[in-house]
Order: sequence, then C-alpha cells, then structure tokens
Amino acid sequence: MNPVPVRDDLRSLSGYHSPQVDVPVRLNTNESPVEPPAAWRDALGAELSRVEWHRYPDRGAIALRTGLAELHGVDPAQVFAANGSNEVLQTLLLAYAGPGRTVVTFEPTYQLHAHIARVTGARVVEVERDASFGLDLDAAVAAVERERPTVTFLCSPNNPTGIAEPAEHVRALLDAAREYAGLLVVDEAYAQFAPWSALGLVDDEQPLVVTRTFSKTWSMAAARLGYLVGPRWLVEALEAVALPYHLDAVKQIAGRLALRHLDEMEERVSAVVAERERLSAVLQQLDVDVVPSAANFGLFRPRQLDGRSVWEALLADGVLVRDCSSWPRLDGCLRVTVGTPSENDAFLSAMRSAVPARGSGSHRQAVGS
Ligand SMILES: *Cc1c(COP(=O)(O)O)cnc(C)c1O
Repeated sequence: MNPVPVRDDLRSLSGYHSPQVDVPVRLNTNESPVEPPAAWRDALGAELSRVEWHRYPDRGAIALRTGLAELHGVDPAQVFAANGSNEVLQTLLLAYAGPGRTVVTFEPTYQLHAHIARVTGARVVEVERDASFGLDLDAAVAAVERERPTVTFLCSPNNPTGIAEPAEHVRALLDAAREYAGLLVVDEAYAQFAPWSALGLVDDEQPLVVTRTFSKTWSMAAARLGYLVGPRWLVEALEAVALPYHLDAVKQIAGRLALRHLDEMEERVSAVVAERERLSAVLQQLDVDVVPSAANFGLFRPRQLDGRSVWEALLADGVLVRDCSSWPRLDGCLRVTVGTPSENDAFLSAMRSAVPARGSGSHRQAVGS
C-alpha cells in the first residue's frame, strides 16, 4: 500500500530534534538544574489524592489563571494557559497565522516559532540579525512594515544566543505592528534571568502578547505548562481555538501550587545567574568567543577548533551541551545550559582540556586553514 501523502506544504518540514543522550552532566536543554521545592511536591501529592478523576477538569483553569494574573498584576481574562508555551504558541498561530498570512522571525532564534507557523500553513519571512546576533532595529522595523506580518516574533532573552532585547526594540516593533493591525509576540521563556520584561507593556489597547513557561525557571519541565499574558480579545479568540479541557487537572494543580513558592523560584534564579556569570568569566579565559547572556544558558564559539570536535570532547568527558555548530548562522557554536555548581565545574574542567587558553598561541590549527 502506498503511504498516504502528508499535505504538500509540509513535505519538506522535519520535526524538532534535541538528542537525549544518557550522560552524567546534561547541559543541553536549558532546564532548571534542580528540582522544585519538596514542599511543592508534598502539597501536589496531597491534592492529587483528592482529584475527582471521573470528572473533566475545570475547563477555564480559573484557579491557575487567577494565580498567574495576581502574579503579574493583570486580569485572569488576560491569561491563557496551555501544555507548555509551545502549545501556547501553536494555539496563537492557529488563530492568527495560517494560509495567506505572514509570520516574521529574527534569525537565529527559537526554531519552533518558524516551524509551528509553517505547520499552520503561514508564509514565514526570516529576517537576519547582525553578525553578533543583535537586532538591527531599522532593518527589523523596515521588514515588518514591508511584510505586514500578522505575527512578529521576538524572543527575549533570545534562544540560542541569550541576548535580551532592550525595551526600545520591543516598543518600536510594537508601534510598527500596531499601524496595520499585526501582533507582536515576545517569547519570554527566560525573562526571569533578564533585567526587564515586556509584561508591563501588555494591555487591551496593544497588540502585544508575552509568553512564559514553567519549564525553565520553575523547575517544572516535566509538567508541560506554559501561558501567555495578552489583551482580553486575544485570549477570547484563543479559547475558541484550543481543544476543550486541554489542560488536565494535574497540571492545573501543579501550576497553582508552584505559585506559592515564588521566593524559592527567585532564589534558584539568582543562583543560576551567579553561576552564569562565573561560567562566562572562566570561558573568557579560554580561546572561545562568548556571547553575553541574560538567560540560563550561554552560546560560545571555539576560535580555532571546530565546534563539533569540542562537543565530542566534552561528551567523552561525560558532559552534554547543545551542538549548534551546523545550524544555519551558528557555524561552530555550542550552547551550554547553566547547571549546578558541580555540573558547571565538570563542564569547565572538560572545556579546559578540550580548548586552549586564550592567547596561548597557535599550536592548534585554525579552522579552515
Ligand atoms: C524552552 C522554550 C520554550 C518552550 O517551553 P515549553 O513551555 O517547555 O513548551 C519556548 N520558547 C523558548 C524560547 C524556549 O527556549
């Protein structure tokens, strides 16, 4: 039998891959290196024993959305939650992208923005960042004015570079999008590690959406829970698109209880930021270029060795980082997630063996020579 062909426009798409290798030190997927608080786990266990399993969960996830709304000083009607922020993005793109519409991304950035947009049938315009991965604001605004995308994505801090966008960039792109009724979506999966957030700009008069996740800062990647804060009219539109009861009871409870542990979450964030700065300072002593990061990971490029061989040397020492060296625009780059102090020590010691010190001469051959 012939396999049934997928949609013509999906034939050239491949899925999202992040290899999971079983090694002692896993610094490749930007999760939190530590578990959520024990008190959260206990409270979750207690509430789970009282779930009415034969009933559908609260369809509007009211308690969870109310908690999130209080956290951010908005109305629950401005909050939409889903199974990871990826599903938030998918719901958003189902409602606002699709055939005949355009989505703009600034590359390199989070691959799923373009990927999910294409799955909905939208046309994706990938606008280039400058050579140091920053946004060329004039070019970015000009692209938005020219393409008039229904959705413009800005990831801040950006994955995989770690660079946070300044507020002027968000404001300028928002102004451009508002002119012709387009949406600006700021993906803030890592915003707690950064100096500022676009959340304060959200209101019903602005075509602005900010997405967040429990996967990174909240140590809850296994729960698959994310949300957005945006105008009420947008949240209403998403509710029409989302499947009924898409957020299960377990997740709603897990998220609601997590919000009681804000202080611990913030302590974990501070610890990660301190470790990020330590990693960056040590990496600066090695023969690698380091991109300044406002997230819980960092991008670096060995200056003389090729990225893949450094990735392999780290793996041989039991340390898994993300190999971005063959990705478009990221030639030779590796991305490391900030781990626990001892995981970071293991990474640094593997790096010291794999890469020469900065300025230590050219006993190794330069790439391409
Ligand atoms: C990890 C990540 C997400 C996905 O988060 P989930 O909530 O786990 O789906 C979204 N955006 C960016 C930029 C990320 O790095």
